[in-house]
Amino acid sequence: MPFTCETCGKSFKRGMSLKVHSLQHSGEKPFKCENCNERFQYKYQLRSHMSIHIGHKQFMCQWCGKDFNMKQYFDEHMKTHTVL
Ligand SMILES: [Zn+2]
Ligand SMILES: [Zn+2]
Ligand SMILES: [Zn+2]
Repeated sequence: MPFTCETCGKSFKRGMSLKVHSLQHSGEKPFKCENCNERFQYKYQLRSHMSIHIGHKQFMCQWCGKDFNMKQYFDEHMKTHTVL
């Protein structure tokens, strides 16, 4: 295979796979949860993390009781209560 990891000698068919793999050695966390911005080193970690966001609304507005499963939407909603 044309792409070989210089750190552990593992080889890959595609340059992209090697790139993703090499992040494991550098300690970077390439997988980001879009819901809460938490980062993960491995895809399976992100996948199991995602289950906490599914079917489970963890952000509730204390002003009107509306609930959200994404912090992003919750933050947007909270702006509507901000009176300047
Ligand atoms: Zn490697
Ligand atoms: Zn998350
Ligand atoms: Zn509200």
